[in-house]
Amino acid sequence: MAKVAHEPGILEWDTPLFQQARTQLERALELAQVSDLVATRLRYPERAVILTLPVRLDDGSFTSFPAYRVQHSSVLGPTKGGVRFDAHVDLGECAALAMWMTWKCALLRLPYGGAKGGVRCSPRELSPGELARVTRRFTAELAPFIGPQLDIPAPDMATNEQTMAWMMDTYSMQKGYAVPEIVTGKPVSLGGSLFRHEATGAGVVMVVESACQRLGWDLAAQRCVVQGFGNVGGIAATELHDKGATVTAVSDISGGVYAPNGLDIPTLHAYVDEHGSLEGYTTGVERITNEQLLETECDVLVLAAREDQVNAANAGNLRCRLLAEGANGPTSVEGDRILAERGIPVLPDILTNAGGVTVSYFEWVQDLGRLFWDRDEIRRRLADKMSDAFDRVWDVAHEQSITLRDAALVAAIREVAAALEARGIYP
Ligand code: NAD
Repeated sequence: MAKVAHEPGILEWDTPLFQQARTQLERALELAQVSDLVATRLRYPERAVILTLPVRLDDGSFTSFPAYRVQHSSVLGPTKGGVRFDAHVDLGECAALAMWMTWKCALLRLPYGGAKGGVRCSPRELSPGELARVTRRFTAELAPFIGPQLDIPAPDMATNEQTMAWMMDTYSMQKGYAVPEIVTGKPVSLGGSLFRHEATGAGVVMVVESACQRLGWDLAAQRCVVQGFGNVGGIAATELHDKGATVTAVSDISGGVYAPNGLDIPTLHAYVDEHGSLEGYTTGVERITNEQLLETECDVLVLAAREDQVNAANAGNLRCRLLAEGANGPTSVEGDRILAERGIPVLPDILTNAGGVTVSYFEWVQDLGRLFWDRDEIRRRLADKMSDAFDRVWDVAHEQSITLRDAALVAAIREVAAALEARGIYP
């Protein structure tokens, strides 16, 4: 029989963000020189679930929220990825983020594939009771598709330890016994890991420090700017500050603050803890917009807010010497190309922000073994994993004369490809 060439056409997840992930993949597939079998399996997610969640609001009315879970690859193990509550969540965003999670887990040599999910809602407009009901309904609807050996959710934008506690409780109530290993990023009292909260931001700074060493720079002598002052950006700013670097500007959704001689990061954290954001903070700083922050002259720019912050419109105006992606997908394909032309190295998201999923993996291992490690041990194990992955990426980039992003993707795809080729395509 003749071979049938099947062109799937436009699929439901084909949004600009998914196309960005696909464009990166196609480039890397060429560079990684893997077989057709590998490319065919990895271009699309294995499974995508779309849900509607009926939820009772505090005023007694009912509304329904769209929700998603996308599982990209189960070749190396269960899928793993965050759950976000955000007004922009859609299938394409979850599919792109799930694919990036596959590369991130593979690059760090964690026995997982990638997943991502979310509920389309405006989390700041929901009360704690409403958030709990959204989370519990989401978990109940998702129960057939998640599990400690199947798919393990974690926090992402606007979800946190409390969200994970509700997810763990809802899943455990259905099973009839406590299943802490169903989610990571839980409170320590429920089997969460020490250092999970700090892991992503600390990992970002470990990667920045490794890059500085290779570039012959002293981290303590660098001026750093951080976009986003939440879990990732807030911790990264603290770690940079603690290592002696000068953090001259930080920002959140309310805008940014700038002080050429360095910001007092602990005071900024205390202010955000009290007021919820940087809005209104003026002591000894100049207020700047997020656009100005990205174009502030500095050595290291850390992007730790959200996707598509550096793109064709502003990549030419950046005045940093090194860019570190703490967020997922903060640099567009066109932005990347411009930065490469300008000779500004980009520490790519799948390497730079992998500290979170790495300590999530440690949390899952501890939960399964019912044996818990101390903070120093976790930090040491994280540092080992991050530095091993960084060295592999740096070496591939230099051996093949390609960007660090391409090198990270190539290194990651080769890990998945080796497993996929050994397993073959069923049946
Ligand atoms: P978060 O909600 O704790 O913090 C996000 C921060 O970005 C907040 O300070 C928010 O005000 C700010 N922000 C949002 N939109 C902005 C904008 N347009 N301009 C400037 N600031 C803006 O979220 P997080 O957990 O820190 O996640 C940030 C990014 O890091 C996301 O892309 C997420 O997917 C990624 N990430 C998070 C983790 C983790 O462990 N939390 C792990 C890997 C990747």
